[in-house]
Amino acid sequence: MTRLMYQGVADVEDTSLAAASQSTAHDSRSADDDPKLREECGVVAIHGHPDAARQTYLALYALQHRGQESAGIATADGQRLANIKGMGLVSEIFTDDVLQKLPGSMAIGHTRYSTTGDSALLNAQPIRVESTKGLIAIAHNGNLVHLGNLRTKLERAGAFFQTTSDSEIIVQLIGHSKAGTLVDAIADSLSQVEGAFSIVMMTRDRVFAARDPRGFRPLSMGRIKNPDGPDTIVFASETCAFDLLRAEYERDVLPGELVMVTQDGVTSRQYSTGVSQSSCIFEHVYFARPDSRIFGRWVQESRDQMGRQLARESGVPADVIVPVPDSGVTAALGYAEESGIPFRFGLIRNHYVGRTFIEPEQRVRDFGVKLKLNPVRNLLEGKRVVLIDDSIIRGTTSRKIVRMVRGAGAKEVHLRISCPPTISPCFYGVDTPSKRDLIAANQSIEEIRQYIEADSLAYLSLDGMLKCCDSSESNGYCVACYTGNYPTQWVDVDEILPAAAMT
Ligand code: SF4
Repeated sequence: MTRLMYQGVADVEDTSLAAASQSTAHDSRSADDDPKLREECGVVAIHGHPDAARQTYLALYALQHRGQESAGIATADGQRLANIKGMGLVSEIFTDDVLQKLPGSMAIGHTRYSTTGDSALLNAQPIRVESTKGLIAIAHNGNLVHLGNLRTKLERAGAFFQTTSDSEIIVQLIGHSKAGTLVDAIADSLSQVEGAFSIVMMTRDRVFAARDPRGFRPLSMGRIKNPDGPDTIVFASETCAFDLLRAEYERDVLPGELVMVTQDGVTSRQYSTGVSQSSCIFEHVYFARPDSRIFGRWVQESRDQMGRQLARESGVPADVIVPVPDSGVTAALGYAEESGIPFRFGLIRNHYVGRTFIEPEQRVRDFGVKLKLNPVRNLLEGKRVVLIDDSIIRGTTSRKIVRMVRGAGAKEVHLRISCPPTISPCFYGVDTPSKRDLIAANQSIEEIRQYIEADSLAYLSLDGMLKCCDSSESNGYCVACYTGNYPTQWVDVDEILPAAAMT
C-alpha cells in the first residue's frame, strides 16, 4: 500500500516527521543499469477552481514523465492549507478518497524523481512550512547551486529546517527576509539563490509562480475561461498538462519573473533582470513531451528538425530508419523524410515494465533492455538499418540495442544520435552520472563506435542542434552537458575534471 504523509488535513492527524524521515527511497532504477538522463520534477499550480485538487491531479498525471518517485498535492481554501504526498505514481497516491481530503480552490502539485536531499517521503514535495510569514507550501523543479553555508547561516538565525531539501531554503529565506510584504520577501529570497528553479508556491490565499533568472526549467501559464466568474489560472512545467484541463496556453513565466495570483487577479514583477537566458536544451532533445510547447517552441518541431539535420549532416546509405522508442521517434521521422529512406517501427517497446521490476537473474546478459525492447525480425532481417536515439550516456544500453538489432538479422547497424556527445554532468536539476561514467567524456567517437559495435556512429553537431531549437541572442540555451561551459559561475569542480585526473 502506498505510504502517505498528511499535513494540515481536516480530521487526519499530521504524519510524524520522524516516521517520514525514516522512509526509504522508492527504487525506480532497478530494471536498468544504464538509464536515460532523468528529469527531476514537474510542477503545477491552480488558482480559482472549485475542485483544484482534482485539476492538479490531472495535470500531474500529464507530467508523470518528469518524475515517478513521489508526488504531492497541497490545497488551500482561504483558511486551511492541507498537504498530502506519497511515494509512487500520481495515480497510485491520489485515489478518490485521498483527493476528497483536499478541499479548496487553490492547489499546487509536484511529481518528483529526486533532487538535492535524499529521496525519502519527507523530501517529497510540496513542502509545507510554518514560517514567520505564515504557512507556505512550495514545489520546485530544478536544483539550486552555490548554497555554501546558507543553511547553516539560516539555522544560526533561528531557522528550523523540517526537510533536507534545498527547496526549503527558499522558504526559510522568505521567513527571514526583512521585506515588508510577502511578495517582496519572495522576490528578495529568490534573488539570493542561484541555480535552476521553476517554482510554484501557495499561502492560504495566494498562489505564486517564478522562474530563475536564466530560465533553465520551463514553466507556462494557462487559463480556463469561466463564463460565470473569474477565470481559473493554471501553471505547469509543460503545456501538455493544460490540454487535459482544457486550459488555454497564455504565455511562459519569464526568466526572472515572479507572478502572483490572488482573488483580485494576476500581477507580475521582474525580480531579476540583465542575466542571459540559458534554458535547458535537453528539454527539447528528450525530457519534454513532443505535444508540449517549451520555451516558446513546440518540442515536436525541434525534434523533427533535429532528425532532418542529422540526415543532412551524417546521412548513410540504408534500407530502413528505426527509432529507439519512444523518445527517438520524432527525430527518426524527420530523418526518414529528409533522407527518403522508409521509417519502420523495428523495435517495439513494452510500456508496462514496472519501475520496481527486479530482474530474477541479474546474471542474464542484456536482460534489462530485452524487457523493454523487442526487435521486429521481419523488418530488420537482411537490412541496412539506421537506428535513431537521443543520447548515449554510459554506452551499455546502446551496445545492447545494437546487438539486439544485429541479432535480429540486420546486415548493417548505423547509430545516429539527435544531439551532440554528452561530455559533462548537469548541476541544474537533471540526474546525470559523474564525468567518469559518461562514455563521451572519456572516449572518442570512433572508440564509442567500436564499444557499441555499430557499423557507423554519428552525433548531431552543436550548431545543428542550436539551429533546430531556434537559438538566438534573445532565446539562449544551456548546452553545458555538451560543452562543459556552465552558465553559472559555480559548479562542482571534482565532477568536471577529466576522468583521467580523478583516477
Ligand atoms: S547541463 Fe545539459 S541537462 Fe543540464 S540544464 Fe544544461 S543543457 Fe540541460
